[in-house]
Amino acid sequence: MTNKEKIINYYHNLDRGQFMDNFKEQAHIDAPFPIGFGQTISQPSLVLKMTILLDVDENSRALEVGTGSGFQTALLAKASKYVYTVERIEKLHLSAKERLTQMSYTNISYKLGDGSLGWEEHAPYDRIMVTASAPKLPDALVAQLAANGKMVIPVGTDLMLITKNKNNQITKEAVANVRFVSLIKDH
Ligand code: SAH
Repeated sequence: MTNKEKIINYYHNLDRGQFMDNFKEQAHIDAPFPIGFGQTISQPSLVLKMTILLDVDENSRALEVGTGSGFQTALLAKASKYVYTVERIEKLHLSAKERLTQMSYTNISYKLGDGSLGWEEHAPYDRIMVTASAPKLPDALVAQLAANGKMVIPVGTDLMLITKNKNNQITKEAVANVRFVSLIKDH
């Protein structure tokens, strides 16, 4: 099985309704839904697309910024070795942690805080997934990306694929037009 096929399989085995407290009966609809605090659970086809683009595999140590419902976190956890996820809203951070722990995920660490600063302690990361739209590419995230690493991040309405080569040179590529909730800096 190719890596892409594995990600697609994991995706089809996830029950999105388990990540929603409201609108559960609409979980199959390919649209974002409110999860409180002005935030949304992302559109599932976009979660899949971004995960395939990020190209996580069983060796990846991945950083996720914007835990939200934990749906994207779960897909990353299935497809990667380990996931570090950061969320700035305490209630969402705690409920995602409780939900994913109850679902028996053991390869995820959770942090409450401003993910635009990354998570220095565990850097560098092979893969970085950002699920909120940044006004500009955060320097801290670029710095915490490993050599040969990849990052998927919405910057404004451009979904960007950022790659670092073995010499730490950066390439930026706009791959799609998207709408996400905003990445909010706490400083
Ligand atoms: N992947 C999530 C997306 C949630 S929406 C899901 O499908 O459920 C984006 C999330 O990013 C929100 O939960 C929001 O609170 C969070 N967020 C926004 N700015 C942030 C920041 N600076 N650091 C960490 N999380 C942030």
